[in-house]
Amino acid sequence: MALPNSIRTGGEIDAFCTKCDLNLAHTIIAMVGPKVVKVKCNTCDSEHVYRGTQPLVKATSFAAPKKSATGATARTPRAAKVTMSWEDQFAGKDLGRAKKYSPRETFVIDDVVDHPTFGIGLVIAVRVDKVDVSVKQDTKTLVHGKTPPPTAS
Ligand SMILES: [Zn+2]
Repeated sequence: MALPNSIRTGGEIDAFCTKCDLNLAHTIIAMVGPKVVKVKCNTCDSEHVYRGTQPLVKATSFAAPKKSATGATARTPRAAKVTMSWEDQFAGKDLGRAKKYSPRETFVIDDVVDHPTFGIGLVIAVRVDKVDVSVKQDTKTLVHGKTPPPTAS
């Protein structure tokens, strides 16, 4: 069953003959590039398209893995969301421990802030005297760590 190394028009090739219903020696009639396209059965003399030899056992295993793989490939999770939803940012946060916002309060990143106007927010950035607080649909920059005005002496 070695592959014929003389695949050329006029050469011989094993092919499945639908008339004889067997893998038989055929003569190559037509080729397109390296591909055999038409052959003539040496046994019954019928010309037909070359389909290669028919495997004795139907190769169903080639198609079988498709189904089981579908779930994994079709539902490939999208890349991690670049922007977390507002709600996601609070996952695992204890909103009951939100700090009441006050310009004199000092906040750190991830602090939950309870602002009288903006509501619950999450500190996402801290600068010297400002914090960026993510509140629903928006980010507000608030003053923090403000030292009380010097008491008149
Ligand atoms: Zn034939």
